[in-house]
Parts: sequence; structure tokens; C-alpha cells
Amino acid sequence: MADNLTDLPGVGPSTAEKLIEAGYIDFMKIATATIGELTDIEGISEKAAAKMIMGARELCDLGFKSGADLLNQRKTVWRLSTGSDELNRILNGGLESQSITEFAGVFGSGKTQIAHQACVNLQCEDTIFVDNEWVSDEELANPKAVYIDTEGTFRPERITQMAEALGIDGQKVLDNTFVARAYNSDMQMLFAEKIEELIKSGNNIKLVIVDSLTSTFRNEYTGRGKLAERQQKLGRHMAVLNKLADLHNCIVVITNQVSARPDAFFGVAEQAIGGHIVGHAATFRFFLRKGKGDKRVAKLYDSPHLPDAEAIFRITEKGIHD
Ligand code: ADP
Ligand code: MG
Repeated sequence: MADNLTDLPGVGPSTAEKLIEAGYIDFMKIATATIGELTDIEGISEKAAAKMIMGARELCDLGFKSGADLLNQRKTVWRLSTGSDELNRILNGGLESQSITEFAGVFGSGKTQIAHQACVNLQCEDTIFVDNEWVSDEELANPKAVYIDTEGTFRPERITQMAEALGIDGQKVLDNTFVARAYNSDMQMLFAEKIEELIKSGNNIKLVIVDSLTSTFRNEYTGRGKLAERQQKLGRHMAVLNKLADLHNCIVVITNQVSARPDAFFGVAEQAIGGHIVGHAATFRFFLRKGKGDKRVAKLYDSPHLPDAEAIFRITEKGIHD
């Protein structure tokens, strides 16, 4: 059942209508909104927005959490194999739920292949790692993926090929993967926001992919003058993705382009696009680079609790593997 927004302080039927129209369909959405987001809606003052948010937070029981609560939430983390044991090993088991994992690299380094493989592996019981003591069976029953494709590189036939290599039904993977082609950053952000509705209507979305996170932003916001606006929008987009990961125990995978580092004399000569906004929001950050033949090198850096490390994997017709 939908939440009755008029239960919030200061919200009458007409404000409720405006909130719903703007996508704030339930208490949780309002509880996790910022004052600035709500005041974007016509007729909502800063003071009113603050009251609504506080009211919604109380109704959703959002507030301080003890370290013990957080530890319990961490116990419901589940992992998805990347396809490569080596890559899984440096990720402490695999792609992690309640986190954002970023793969950055030049064209052809394997970002889109990793994203495709994740959709396939989500439909394969052997590649999902769950602590059954903490995660109920329903949590991962009939899991589905959302693939936001900004570069037009999603290929159903590649999914089928990877599925066959694992001995699973490619059609099942395609049926359980929602693909959204985003032609610009507004569409991209809107698709991410709509995922909440997919979940509300009964789809057990457990994997969210944005491939690539930054290409639309990079094309639309060129030049120094647009940088602040770009970063602000990117920040909002990342916040939506973070919320999905956190509130719905999802795995979020983003891919990213790289740019040359003008200040690098020695050391890393490339950097991921998006600056600190993306850097702070992503929990696990990888650089991918091409090796010999079908080999690729993934370098993990900047993780809050894992050491920097490198893994070598391969991309063949079977998909991602050691
Ligand atoms: P990007 O980092 O630009 O997203 P991709 O993930 O699309 O790069 O990787 C493209 C590379 O993946 C190709 O250059 C090729 O080496 C490999 N690849 C893609 N499809 C196949 C396939 N069906 N069989 C073998 N290798 C493939
Ligand atoms: Mg790609």
C-alpha cells in the first residue's frame, strides 16, 4: 500500500499531489531527500521541507544507528562473482551489495563485458554468495537487474553467449534484465530514479548497472564554466544510486571513462572522470588496462577497507574468467 503523504506535518492534499507528481511517492523518498530537492517543487518553502523530512524520518525510523545495528546490516551483504576468481579474491569475494563498484578504463578495457557478465551471473545460483544465516531466501528470490546503457553497447546476443558458457538459459537472463537506453544525462538520471518504482511494483532488483556513468555528462557539460553544474548533477545521481544500494541491498556497478592527468609526471597517468563526487560515492574503484591478447589487469585502489591490489583476468567468447 502507498503511504499517505498527508500524514506528514504541514502536508495537505494539494501538497501531497505535488510531491507525488515530483516522484516523492512514499515516506522513504521524502526521508532521504534534501531540503533543496523538495524546495525545487513549487510552493514548498525551506521550512516546510525541513518539517516534512523530519516527519518522514521519524515515520521511517531513520536516525542514529548503533555500531551494532550497522554490523547487523553489514551481515546481510551478499556477493556476486565477477566471473574471475582472481578478481573476486581482491574484492574479498566478489561484487558487494550495499556498495558501489566502479570500473574505469580506456575503450576496450573490458568495462562493458564485466557489466554483461554480472547480469548473467545474477541468474546463476553458483555465482551468488550469501550468508544464509543472515539473508532470507526471499531476499534473493527471482533477482533482476537494471542496465542503464548510455553508449548503446548492450548486446543481448553477448548475454546469450555468456549464459550458454555457464550452462544457463540466456532467455531467462534477458527476461530478468531491464535495459534502459539513455541518450542524455537527464534520461540517465530519470531511469535511476525510476528503479525505486520497479521495486515497489514487485521486481526484486538486486543489480543496477550504469554503463557508462560519465559519458553523457562529459558530452553535455563541456568547458570549465559548466563544471560546477555537472558535478552537482552527478552528485545527485550518485546519491540515488547509493540509496538503492543501501536501502534495497543492491549491487551497483558503474563504468567510467578515463582522462589524462595533466599533473602526472610519474605514476598514474590516467584518472577516472567525475572527480571527488564519484570518488567518494564509490566504495570499490578499479582501473582496467589491457594486457597481452585477451588478458586484462584490474587494479583496485582507494578502498576504505581493502588493500590496493591487482588481478589478472581474461575476456573470451565465454565471458570473464581467469
Ligand atoms: P569497454 O571497456 O570499452 O566497455 P568492452 O567491455 O566492450 O570495453 O570490451 C571489449 C573487448 O572485449 C573487445 O575488444 C574484445 O577483446 C572483448 N570481447 C567482446 N566480445 C567478445 C566476444 N564475443 N568474444 C571474445 N572477446 C570479446
Ligand atoms: Mg563499454
